[in-house]
Amino acid sequence: MALLPILTAPDPRLKKKSLPVETVDAGVRQLMDDMLETMYAAPGIGLAAPQVGALKRVIVLDIDREDTKTGPLFMANPEIIEASDEDVIYEEGCLSVPEHYSDVARPATVRVRYLDRDGNKQEMACEGLLATCVQHEIDHLDGILFIDHISSLKRNMILRKLLKARKEKERDEAEGKPTAKNQAKDPEHAL
Ligand SMILES: [Zn+2]
Repeated sequence: MALLPILTAPDPRLKKKSLPVETVDAGVRQLMDDMLETMYAAPGIGLAAPQVGALKRVIVLDIDREDTKTGPLFMANPEIIEASDEDVIYEEGCLSVPEHYSDVARPATVRVRYLDRDGNKQEMACEGLLATCVQHEIDHLDGILFIDHISSLKRNMILRKLLKARKEKERDEAEGKPTAKNQAKDPEHAL
C-alpha cells in the first residue's frame, strides 16, 4: 500500500467528472487500498478517487461513531437511488479544502447502489453521518465540492484563503523553512 498526495482546491482536477470503472480488477483494488491508507493517515472518514488525482468513480469511507460504525467501505460506481425529502444539516469539511468548514444541507437518508471491493453489486441504506459522507464523496465524482453548496461569497473567500496559504507554503519551502503538515482538526469533519 502507498500513501497518495491529496489534491487541494483550487485544482482543476477536482472539478472534473470521473469515469465509471468497468470492472473491479486488481488495479482498482490497489487504488481502493491506497486511498483507504491515505484517508486514515490524513485523518479523515471519506475519500474519493479524484482527490488523489484518479478520475475514476471510486470512494472509500470508514465511520466510527457510537451510533454508526461501518468499518472500511469500498464503493465503485456508487449511485444514489433513493433520497429522503427531509434534509439534515452537518458541518462539513474536506481533505481537499483544508481547515475550512461550513454547514451543508443534504437529504437525511439515502439508498446507495455500488460495486464492492470484490466487484459484487450491493445496496445500502444510509442515515446520519454515513448518509452525509456518501453524498459528499459522490459529489467529488461529479466535480462538486462542499463549498459549491454554500454562498458564492463564502466560497470565494475560502478559495482566496486556500490560494494564499498555498503561496505561503511554497515560499516557506523555497526558503527551506519547515512547513506545518495540513492536519484535519477533527476527522469527523474531514470528508
Ligand atoms: Zn471531500
